Amino acid sequence: MSSQFNKFYKFLPFITIVIGISVSIFVGWFTYHYYEEKENSHLELASNEIVVLVEARMAAYEQVLRSGVGFFNASDSVSRNAWAIFVKDHKLNDNFKGIQGFGYSEVVFPQNKLVHEERIKKEGFADFKIHPDGQRELYTSIIYLEPFDERNIRAFGYDMFSEKVRREAMLKAMKSGEATLSGKITLVQEFDTNIQAGFLVYLPVYKKGSKLATPQDRVSATQGFVYAPFRANDLMDGVLGTMFPHIHFEIFDGNLPTKQSILFDSNTNNEFTLVYKTTNLTINGHTWTLLFKTNSILESEDIYIVFIIPSFILILTLLLYLLLNSLIKTKENAVQIAKKATQKLQDSEERLRYALEGAGDGLWDWNLKTNEVFFSKRWKEMLGFAEDEIDSTLDEWKNRIYPEDIEQVYADITAHIEDKSNTYINEHRVKCKDGSYKWILDRGLIVSRDVDGSPVRMVGSHSDISERKQSQLRLEEYMRIIDKNVISSTTNLNGKIIKASQAFCDISGYSKDELLGRNHNIVRHPDMLQALYKELWETIQAGNVWKGEIKNMHKNGSSYWVDITISSVKNEKGETISYAAIRHDITDKKRIEELSVTDRLTQLYNRLKLDEIFAMKLATAGRYNTPFSVVIIDIDLFKLVNDTWGHQAGDDVLKEFSAIIKNNARETDIVGRWGGEEFLILSSDTDLDGAIKLSEKLREMVSSFKFSFTGHKTASFGVSSYHAGDDEKTMIKRADDALYRAKENGRNRVEAEEYN
Ligand code: GH3
Ligand code: MG
Ligand code: MG
Repeated sequence: MSSQFNKFYKFLPFITIVIGISVSIFVGWFTYHYYEEKENSHLELASNEIVVLVEARMAAYEQVLRSGVGFFNASDSVSRNAWAIFVKDHKLNDNFKGIQGFGYSEVVFPQNKLVHEERIKKEGFADFKIHPDGQRELYTSIIYLEPFDERNIRAFGYDMFSEKVRREAMLKAMKSGEATLSGKITLVQEFDTNIQAGFLVYLPVYKKGSKLATPQDRVSATQGFVYAPFRANDLMDGVLGTMFPHIHFEIFDGNLPTKQSILFDSNTNNEFTLVYKTTNLTINGHTWTLLFKTNSILESEDIYIVFIIPSFILILTLLLYLLLNSLIKTKENAVQIAKKATQKLQDSEERLRYALEGAGDGLWDWNLKTNEVFFSKRWKEMLGFAEDEIDSTLDEWKNRIYPEDIEQVYADITAHIEDKSNTYINEHRVKCKDGSYKWILDRGLIVSRDVDGSPVRMVGSHSDISERKQSQLRLEEYMRIIDKNVISSTTNLNGKIIKASQAFCDISGYSKDELLGRNHNIVRHPDMLQALYKELWETIQAGNVWKGEIKNMHKNGSSYWVDITISSVKNEKGETISYAAIRHDITDKKRIEELSVTDRLTQLYNRLKLDEIFAMKLATAGRYNTPFSVVIIDIDLFKLVNDTWGHQAGDDVLKEFSAIIKNNARETDIVGRWGGEEFLILSSDTDLDGAIKLSEKLREMVSSFKFSFTGHKTASFGVSSYHAGDDEKTMIKRADDALYRAKENGRNRVEAEEYN
């Protein structure tokens, strides 16, 4: 149907031009014929009128001739003078236009020729003679011809019987007794430039009393002819008058209109004529052919209609042709472009569909104008439907989206429709046939828009991402668990916290907001030595992993211990961009550890820890040859306290005493309970003098301190220092000996070792 139309419309301009030309030809032809018809009837009318006029005029001439014959018949002889008067009476010039003369030609037999000539000569025409010269069987001699003017005198004595055309007419007239018109001749009167065709009309004059029964009788009885010569142009002049301004006519001698036979032509200009008509007219036994012509169509103003209307139609046709051509071109171009575009679209669409079908995705194809949605087989399968179980409607789709997800789906689609995003992408849940929900990744693209930019068609795919989504959710759960339970943090290269887990927040007492952007030393505990952090930074900055146990301070001032591993985080170029730390809370372990090395009553190191440290210090002093001293302290007369105030008061003195020596010893000194009411100080990098000075200072502090309940107490000090080859036993022995001497020498004293 459409291809048939396509074929048809291609020929439309051609058909149009053919129809247009045909119509204009037809209209031209019709108009022309309408006028021709009109003209024909006009010509018919005119020709009839003219024929009647010509016949009437010729009939009138015949009457003139008959009156001439009558004149001869009425008298024995007609004198020249009588004839002249007779003709004059007829007023030829006024009443009979075109008649050249009115004459009488006498029949002269050869034997009478001379007599005849003599008779006329006697009338006063000395030069008269029958002409042309020559011997003939019979002569006719024009003796009268009125008006006898210069022109007609040329015919005086002319033998018309000597000339063939005239002779024929004369014989015919003689034989019939009727007026006879001759064929075309040139009058002998013609001599100047205005030479016209002419003819003559003869009527025979028979001798009175002759027998006229047969043609032969009549020939024998003929005495002469009354005749009139005519000049055709002059005769016909005025026949047409002003009645038929556009009609012309020609008179031809005989039955055929030929150039030679033309007698009269009313139109000497030979204008082009469109319509003509011929009529044969017999006058006085002679046939004329009348040819009528008209050019009134051409001269009429209406003639333009014959051309104007078809021209107008032709111009319209041409315009229509051009218009159709350009429309078809435009349409063809548009169709071509549309075809290409459609092909392109189909190609890419096919590719897309194959690609996506192949990828196991479900496809949807949404017509935004009708809200029809095509769902691919795979799309339906994904939700557990058979091919024909879902209608191709937008509602079918909308109603399957999980209610909580629908708002975001709309927002994302709208953003793409409004050109705010290159593609539409959304992850949401869709209800399956069995009522369960499936996570899908939905992607779409507007593939065609209206001229006004409104979307017409959007194509997209559903990918089943349930598994991925579940593992993602599981992963998120793990991350939450890790975040909650693993104390982790990340700092930038300057130590500023950029990430902190919830567990880190929990153990430190700070919120995430308080931690992020702060330096990591926010949790540093004053107990931790500066040297440890120095070593830590050197390690991680060198790209190595640092591991250790660190005591940190809670926001509320309490402390906690962590076992920490710090490593550098590198980017793809291998450059360190941050440091990540993972910790375990080891506070409890540390507590237990502390308890095992701490004297419960005094909170000083116990004998066990002192022994451990003593060994380390001895090793260091031995290896590096650095000074090292020990001080043994024994409270004076302590037994008396217990005895006087009770054991509890004794314990209290022990506590207060411990605090005095702990707080006044140097940070590097190790202070511990050696046993009962005896204490030991391990003093690194300290020689004997240094240890004595420390002991003196502590002795004074104790002696000046007022203990609760018991008041003032004193203590004795024994000091020894490391010598090569010393062990714990030998050093303690020398310190103990010095203490003994301090007791011996009155207590509240410091005694140094005696070494030799
Ligand atoms: P000095 O050393 O000056 O010679 O006299 P002293 O009274 O201190 O004599 P000694 O060192 O022999 O006596 C130590 C006493 O300390 C014996 C014991 O009852 C008491 N003691 C030891 N340990 C404790 C303790 O943990 N608590 C109390 N309350 N008393 C203790
Ligand atoms: Mg003692
Ligand atoms: Mg004592």
